[in-house]
Amino acid sequence: MKLFNTLTRRKEEFVPLEEGKVRMYVCGPTVYNLIHIGNARPMIIFDTVRRYMEYKGYEVNYVSNFTDVDDKIIKKAIEEGVSAEEISTRYIAECKKDMEGMNVKPATTHPLATQEIDGMIEMIRTLIDKGYAYPAADGTVYFRVKNFKEYGKLSHKNLDDLQSGFRALQVSGEEQKEDPMDFVLWKPKKEGEPFWTSPWCDGRPGWHIECSVMSKKYLGEEIDIHAGGEDLIFPHHENEIAQSECCNGKIFAKYWMHNAFLNIDNKKMSKSLGNFRTVREISQQYDLQVLRFFMLNAHYRSPLNFSADLMEASKNALERIVEAGARLKDRIAAASVEAASESEKELLKTAESFTAKFEEAMDDDFNTADALAAVFELVKFANTNVTEGASREMASAVYEQLIRLCDILGLIVERKEEILDQEIEDLIAERQAARKEKNFARADEIRDLLLEKGIILKDTREGVKWTRA
Ligand code: AMP
Ligand code: ZN
Repeated sequence: MKLFNTLTRRKEEFVPLEEGKVRMYVCGPTVYNLIHIGNARPMIIFDTVRRYMEYKGYEVNYVSNFTDVDDKIIKKAIEEGVSAEEISTRYIAECKKDMEGMNVKPATTHPLATQEIDGMIEMIRTLIDKGYAYPAADGTVYFRVKNFKEYGKLSHKNLDDLQSGFRALQVSGEEQKEDPMDFVLWKPKKEGEPFWTSPWCDGRPGWHIECSVMSKKYLGEEIDIHAGGEDLIFPHHENEIAQSECCNGKIFAKYWMHNAFLNIDNKKMSKSLGNFRTVREISQQYDLQVLRFFMLNAHYRSPLNFSADLMEASKNALERIVEAGARLKDRIAAASVEAASESEKELLKTAESFTAKFEEAMDDDFNTADALAAVFELVKFANTNVTEGASREMASAVYEQLIRLCDILGLIVERKEEILDQEIEDLIAERQAARKEKNFARADEIRDLLLEKGIILKDTREGVKWTRA
């Protein structure tokens, strides 16, 4: 299995630190809002990496954090007049719902930054003791970048260039830094912000130290894979390497994987441009399996453009797989012959070649687009060869193969009867209209129809509310 390592800028053979095991850390979202479809990209991609590793027989310890203390969370808490904890707890729960919808497996551990402050203080203390960090007069603790000779190795930046760049950018309040490149490990509290007591001042950790500490605690000092979106290469991951390697004296992560960005209608997705789409919004229009398919139909290191057309194409393509699965299931149920004939056995060998193709694609730096192409070859094969009169053995073998390959990609092939939010809203509107026209029979019919699909309606003074049973 080969993967592209940002550190060496080459595709390298994957050799785990410990045989049969993979230790993997993926930087998770800052939880101050519903996640957007850009955040969904690393979630889907690295969940697929994990699933493929598991399929290959590795035991994967997969850790992904939630950053639950941050300026944006505090800002949102102030706007709403609630605590920062209330904001982060709410959006962690919402994020988990979206992950479930996208069939992203829960991590082995989902640590929260606020629960790991002691470890952060400990690591900062070690860095100070070793001469890699220093507290300034106001209690801010900085990392002393120039003492780490390998700084810049991940982002392939030259220290001199970096230094002059930072000097040009220096803002007031940063005069207390020994060097413009130095970054914050601990910062003093501001009025109204959450804080923790530390030897340097009451305050809170910088963002980078969180991941170094959580990775060490849950995976150890050396890990196999560290991953995230490409915007994290610099400074976040560069700083994580500096902190961890200076503290532990060991190589932090062997392989660094980064997904390219998701754009929207060929523009960068950003709040200021107003072209921001949340996963929740998408879920009102599509089954989130469609979003997953859309992400996997491109290489994770290529920029990907989100558009309505591509989503429609993904929906149709996914439907072809689902239909093939449903047809195979029908064939299994209707088969009158049990065992595969000699000619069917020959055909099944051909079918197996699609698994080989699939694996070849995934072994080549997780080329999920080519892996999907192999799935479509299997679909075509099934549609052509598993026809009426096929044996149960033949139909079952092809069906199981289809399910297995799709499951590695995290795609659920069984047809879901699940009803989308938008369909529910439409039916509720139709029911309201029926009631207005005093067509109570139709209104009741709609209520029963929704109930059958597990949707419970409640008439309230603010209108009709619904919940899933
Ligand atoms: P954040 O909440 O901004 O820390 O982001 C969480 C994860 O989503 C990180 O791995 C980011 O690199 C990734 N990410 C954010 N925006 C995008 C985007 N537009 N495309 C792909 N990945 C993104
Ligand atoms: Zn991180």
